[in-house]
Amino acid sequence: MKSFHYVRVKTVDEAMSAYSNSSDPRFIGGGTNLLDLMKMGVETPSHLIDVSRLPLHSIEEREGGVRIGALVSNTDAANHELIRTRYPVLSEAILSGASQQLRNMATMGGNLLQRTRCYYFYDPSYTECNKRTPGSGCAAKEGVNRIHAILGAGTECIATHPSDMCVALAALDAVVRVTGPKGERSLPFHGFHRLPGNTPQLDTNLLAGELITAIDLPALAYARRSHYLKVRERSSYAFALVSVAAVLDLDSDAKVRQARIALGGVAHMPWRARTAEKLMIGEKIEPKALRNAANGELAAARPYRDNAFKVELAKRAIVRALTTAAAQEAA
Ligand code: SF4
Repeated sequence: MKSFHYVRVKTVDEAMSAYSNSSDPRFIGGGTNLLDLMKMGVETPSHLIDVSRLPLHSIEEREGGVRIGALVSNTDAANHELIRTRYPVLSEAILSGASQQLRNMATMGGNLLQRTRCYYFYDPSYTECNKRTPGSGCAAKEGVNRIHAILGAGTECIATHPSDMCVALAALDAVVRVTGPKGERSLPFHGFHRLPGNTPQLDTNLLAGELITAIDLPALAYARRSHYLKVRERSSYAFALVSVAAVLDLDSDAKVRQARIALGGVAHMPWRARTAEKLMIGEKIEPKALRNAANGELAAARPYRDNAFKVELAKRAIVRALTTAAAQEAA
């Protein structure tokens, strides 16, 4: 591993100052992804600014919703009563990811910044990777691409976003609070991560020096009627081949007033299934309507050599996730 300077800060102002006074710096919280990347030689920062002691560890009600501090551990968020009772889809998604030890270390803010698990990205002996080295090519397009994207991929990169938690946050329309050299701002979740386009080296729309301080969950009366379904190669400690976060608002006739559906494992960012959502409005949770919505969403899928199976898998996962969500009590 390349040597680096390390500093621990105690306030957000100290973090901002340390960042602006360092060359090639990175913030580090739990370090569960960044340290792996540094050991592999994929990330080579000169300065690490340890933000884990900043006062961003609380979960509190706010304006009818809930604010989660960026340094709350994944374990504490998933097990918090406000999250378990009001936003169970988020609790389920977090608990389906990683291992207990990793969830104890990983922070909510850091989880948003996980980088893809594309094999070629993690192995610098492969020289073709536009995400690691812009302009070098993409080894996955003609290589082993079983875990790669089927929706929204560009010509430059076909990687998938790895987080389970972020799929639930996408369905819940969370808001990411950040502070940086130009002050504080809020990013709606659909504007936080990016599709690869011609800048696949960028995973998010964070600006240089911006630090995530909190995640806001909006008031959502029907969010209890939800489900997170993860399909993976084995039943523990594996990334999703396909996952679905589904949140449903049903009327008194059990017809869909609103559906919020997000997919994981299929795109460079958590994929909000807007087409399926629209197709479900006014429908009952019945096989024909569910399959029609899933077919509509996946009509845009463009699989590669090894991952065509994800198209049918995603359709079936959407059907099952919505069916399971509909069976939950709304309140
Ligand atoms: Fe690199 Fe993206 Fe291609 Fe993977 S899919 S090799 S991350 S450019």
